[in-house]
Amino acid sequence: MGVVVVGNGPGGLELAKNLSGEFDVTIVERESLPGYSKPMLSHYIAGFIPEEKLFPYPLDWYENRGIKLLLGTEARLIDRSRKVLVTDRGEVPYDALVIATGARAREPSVPGGEYILTLRTLSDAKRIRARLEDEGEITVLGGGFIALELAGNLAKAGYTVKLIHRGRTLLRLDEELSEIIRARLENAGVEFHLETSVLGADETGLRTDKGYIPGRLKVCAFGIVPNRELAVRSGIHAGRGIMIDDHLRTSAKDVYAVGDCAELNGFIGGTAKAAVEQARVLSRILKGEDERYEPFRSAFFKFADLNVAIIGKTEGRGEWLDGKARVFREGEKVVGAVVFDDLREAMKLERTIKEGLP
Ligand code: FAD
Repeated sequence: MGVVVVGNGPGGLELAKNLSGEFDVTIVERESLPGYSKPMLSHYIAGFIPEEKLFPYPLDWYENRGIKLLLGTEARLIDRSRKVLVTDRGEVPYDALVIATGARAREPSVPGGEYILTLRTLSDAKRIRARLEDEGEITVLGGGFIALELAGNLAKAGYTVKLIHRGRTLLRLDEELSEIIRARLENAGVEFHLETSVLGADETGLRTDKGYIPGRLKVCAFGIVPNRELAVRSGIHAGRGIMIDDHLRTSAKDVYAVGDCAELNGFIGGTAKAAVEQARVLSRILKGEDERYEPFRSAFFKFADLNVAIIGKTEGRGEWLDGKARVFREGEKVVGAVVFDDLREAMKLERTIKEGLP
């Protein structure tokens, strides 16, 4: 059976890895590089790792596994009646097609938005790194994990870092948890401007509702836009992302979607961890196993030297188990947790919550 995967991010890559050997796997990727780690981009910008460390698998890894990798090739249309993927370099026939086109960074929609960079790809990271070398300082917009990773790593590397976020808290956590993260990152050198809305940008800074904040290098890191255009153009149902069911099926026969481009009952993973999990479930489904994907939020991040894990449902007050883990319950059952610094505890809680143990 021929499986064609569009996109060589963690979702597409994991799927190809799990199917190779048993299926004829082709990856169609518009970038000209083998897959690289987006979670490591801010480490690269900070100068903590060299460029080659971003690539987990060299080109011969694909070759040795029998995975056909079509780089520099953009998928344009899925011709469902003929079961071929139309690309800018010709047609690729498929038995099953998986859309793993990911997402792009949300662009700032303020006057002067062209003075604000975004971060999603290696070429974005190179642009930011080059500007950082000239400026020595950076202003990061956003209060989510990408903004915190970038701000934390660059402060740790000794750059002057401001973080502007229009919300009151970080990562949509409550004030107590958000405060722990803010305090640790402030210690690392990040200057926070919370509850501050950006109204416009120019070459030398940002106009905000709290006054002008100077800074020549500005990077917007708030939110993603799922890449759903290939699906929409091919007549496949999409909302914010490409609609899938719990078998990762789209509305078109033999066409599936995983990762940041896919939406299941309003849930868009938004993390490499979720993309990989979906790909693993789909690979088992394609091998004939009786499996379903159940969305489960769980993400592990590192902001400067602070490890943070956010697992399951984290609404409500919750209770501290010790100084490092706050758990959230429904009745007696633990359904969510936020864990600081203790990765082993985080993994233990992740297992407990996922398996629904009391
Ligand atoms: P992507 O990684 O976006 O890959 C999609 C691929 O499809 C791209 O290579 C794109 O070029 C290709 N493509 C798109 N359209 C087409 C087309 N028409 N034809 C051909 N190819 C196409 N997640 C975590 O879990 N932990 C972290 O710490 C973390 N940190 C992050 C830090 C940064 C700076 C960024 C940007 C992201 C971070 N993420 C993190 C998020 C994580 O990287 C994404 O959730 C993950 O990459 C999604 O994987 P994906 O395979 O769905 O899509």
